[in-house]
Amino acid sequence: MSKYEAVIGLETHIQLNTVTKIFCSCKADSWDDDPNTNICPVCSGLPGVLPVLNKAAVEKAVLLAAAMHADINPLSFFDRKNYFYPDLPKGYQVTQYDRSIARGGYMDVPLSPASGGDGEGDRRVRIHKLHLEEDAGKTKNEFGRRLIDFNRCGVPLIEMVTGPDIHTADEAAAYLIRLRQLLRWLGVSEADMEKGHLRADANVSIRLKGSTVLNTKTEIKNVNSIEAVRSAIEKEIERQTREVEAGHTIKPWTLSWDDETQTLSKMRSKETEADYRYFREPDLLPVRLDDAWRDQILAALPELPLARRARFTQAYGLPEYDAEILTAERALSDYYENAVQAYGGDPKTVSNWMMNDVLRMLNDRGLTASGLNITPAHLAEAIRLVDEKVVNTSTGKALIAKVQDTGKSPKAIVEAEGLAKVSDEDAIRTLVRQVIEANPTEAATYRGGKTTVIGWFVGQVMRQSRGKADPETAKKLLEELLM
Ligand code: ZN
Ligand code: MN
Repeated sequence: MSKYEAVIGLETHIQLNTVTKIFCSCKADSWDDDPNTNICPVCSGLPGVLPVLNKAAVEKAVLLAAAMHADINPLSFFDRKNYFYPDLPKGYQVTQYDRSIARGGYMDVPLSPASGGDGEGDRRVRIHKLHLEEDAGKTKNEFGRRLIDFNRCGVPLIEMVTGPDIHTADEAAAYLIRLRQLLRWLGVSEADMEKGHLRADANVSIRLKGSTVLNTKTEIKNVNSIEAVRSAIEKEIERQTREVEAGHTIKPWTLSWDDETQTLSKMRSKETEADYRYFREPDLLPVRLDDAWRDQILAALPELPLARRARFTQAYGLPEYDAEILTAERALSDYYENAVQAYGGDPKTVSNWMMNDVLRMLNDRGLTASGLNITPAHLAEAIRLVDEKVVNTSTGKALIAKVQDTGKSPKAIVEAEGLAKVSDEDAIRTLVRQVIEANPTEAATYRGGKTTVIGWFVGQVMRQSRGKADPETAKKLLEELLM
């Protein structure tokens, strides 16, 4: 165990999934577009134009702020953050400085024992800052030149900065996993890190365990997956520990993560905070969020993932493990609840089917819950067909994929394909006799005392019945007739 503890804060930029950009009517998502094809005079910073605030961006920000338990400001302002960079055509970024859309807030992150937690408590990560702003463009080096793409200029972002409440690389990853889940759950962002919908920079420092001081921190940039965040923070904690042990001081560097070589390199030393000369954006009105608008937005605030997970364990008696998986996605958890209702029996039975069969089928087809073609009512019907022994378990499981592919009801498929289980003893006895007669060697083996071949015989009977025989009846009759 190290005698040091890390203090980590995460600064995230979240791309909101609005249809249009924050101050103009250009498409917000231009991931597949050619460079500089999705721009207009407003977002490319031509002189003489006026921005108009996108209402949907405000609404998504308010929804997220409420889910983060933040105080929502009835009056907020936009400000200009002035700096010169080629991907910023106006020479300033429109953001929110001292009077942003929300104040405070926190997110509880359940910690598994693997992430250094006791598996019981949650880590409460405070939110220091939550504001709306516009994105900048992208620069890239190609053909020996520096090229600029303005398509991303003006895409609505939420910048959200945590307090120094995270203490391990795993906790940082756990926070981002929960944040991504929440963003998708609320429907405010696609939150795909690989596409830059969710970007995270990490501030890292270390201190002696038990100490409460905040030492000099470094900032890690260019991490574009949760795995990269984890590895980069781990490497930086190791590096700072080595430096401190060698008697060196930590310098406030900005570090860049290279995913390919899994190494950090120094981008720049950060001696003084840049002076951004913030001032109010004179071309935009203050955002006035009156009670009526606020209530209207918050009416769409759903039950949050952790609350739903807790309810699943309490109301349905599900194990923690099931509840966690079934609440990973909002569509999946809605689906589960509808299926439980349609089924009317033990919720754990429905959970077993969901976890073993429905999720595997989705996985095989590369789908998520929203791609489910089998309705909750049809799933309930398939389970009942097995409960009532109309079909055997393996036929029941095979029905899931058939319903998904055809959209027909399980009952209709059973009828059309004649899948109903043969539990009629006489019918199975005939099959058993045929199988024994056709396989005298194996029958002799069994009678000679090697009774384990019974499994092979059951398999043969199942095959003869094309899967419809009740395997238990088959086994019973085989034992009887092989005596
Ligand atoms: Zn535009
Ligand atoms: Mn920012």
